[in-house]
Amino acid sequence: MRINRIGLKLGAVIIALFIIILTFLGLVIDRVFSSFYHTKMKEDVQDLATHFASMAKSHDTSSEEMMQTYADFSNVSIYLIHLNTGDPISLGRLKIQDAEFLQPSDLAGLRAGHSLFREFAAQDGESYFVSARPVPEEGIAIYVLSSMQSMDESLRRVRSYLLLSGGGAFALALGFTYVVSQILSRPMVQMEQATRRIAKGELETRVEVRSSDEIGNLGAAINDLARDLQHYRDTRQEFFANISHELRTPITYLEGYAKVLTDGLYDSEEEKVQYLTIIYQESLRLSRLIHDLFELSKMEEGKIHLLMEWLDLSELAENSVQKVQLKAREKGLSLHYEKADIPLVYADGLRMEQVVLNILENAIRYTEQGTIRVRLSAQPESVHLIVEDTGRGIPQEELPYIFERFYRVEKSRSREHGGSGLGLAIVKKLMELQGGTVEVASEPGAGTRFVISLPTSGPA
Ligand code: ADP
Repeated sequence: MRINRIGLKLGAVIIALFIIILTFLGLVIDRVFSSFYHTKMKEDVQDLATHFASMAKSHDTSSEEMMQTYADFSNVSIYLIHLNTGDPISLGRLKIQDAEFLQPSDLAGLRAGHSLFREFAAQDGESYFVSARPVPEEGIAIYVLSSMQSMDESLRRVRSYLLLSGGGAFALALGFTYVVSQILSRPMVQMEQATRRIAKGELETRVEVRSSDEIGNLGAAINDLARDLQHYRDTRQEFFANISHELRTPITYLEGYAKVLTDGLYDSEEEKVQYLTIIYQESLRLSRLIHDLFELSKMEEGKIHLLMEWLDLSELAENSVQKVQLKAREKGLSLHYEKADIPLVYADGLRMEQVVLNILENAIRYTEQGTIRVRLSAQPESVHLIVEDTGRGIPQEELPYIFERFYRVEKSRSREHGGSGLGLAIVKKLMELQGGTVEVASEPGAGTRFVISLPTSGPA
């Protein structure tokens, strides 16, 4: 058994506390009982002595008889002594034993009319309460001796009950502590084992959460951690698979066409230019892909620095629209911008332009005919920039995934359009970093609407 188990430590603390409390309680109860018995016997002996003294004064012969009878039936001994000489008087059946309890100093006090009370230990080892009363009228003093044996016995009995109940309570505490420490430490041990398995890479491991207290919360947190790690591992694997696929495609083109050219496998100068154009476009795509990947990884590691400032989103949107106007015109699309009065927003101007351009370029890329409309709308606590197109749209079931890295709705066709599949992932990340959001709604065949939103509240 390991000494530093939490259950053992906790158990030791509880047991130590129990022992301290039980010892303290035992001592207090013992003291209370001892002093109770002591006081009670002292009072009884003193009362008896007073009573016998008044009986002795009455000159009644039956009193002497009564004293004798009382002495026979109780554990008290009664002695009479001469006040003058201090000698014991033999009274009928009252036995005169070795009057060792008599102390020469007693007599002076008794002669002066004082009563006395003291404890006395006989040579045979027994202890007594001694109470004496002078009866000057008779020239005698009455001594009443009461053995402490019965009191000691009662106290012994009380102590043995105390010890017994203390032992019982201790055993109960031991059992209780064992159960509690088991209940407390078992989930801890399970959690320890689970975290070790998770650390070894067994990410499917889960802790059984049975309670909603701190231990339960810790278990739930370990499960969340395992789930996150599992998700991270899965997405990382998927991400690497995607990267290699994305890189392999343009590289295959580059290799193929470069070989065709070096081997002179072309028929005309025109064909040669065509192959060179493909090589140029593919290398452009490769460099864009690498640039986007680099950007995204910097953002995810929190390594990009944002230059946050108060900016006019309407001006930024207008500029962006102008930049892509030519592309739209080339494709025969009409691009409208609707100016609106909106409050300033707190954002990074260059990054916001990157976001808006990305969404606008997508709208142009995935729209064959019709209109692209850009509008702004002031909301109670934010500003919305809306880009609507009349393009092919995105199927409802694909909408939740379009912000994921390398996700494309029509896999091969959008690659043809020259996209890296990272544009919207970058948009989403940038909006999050600036405290904003990006949402999409779409109807296949009718068009798509992107809404980016930025709060007007500024820095917190
Ligand atoms: P890509 O570089 O391929 O455009 P994005 O991340 O920008 O990658 O977009 C992801 C996918 O979302 C695109 O491949 C496309 O299928 C879809 N998409 C984005 N914008 C639109 C749009 N305006 N209309 C239709 N589909 C869109």
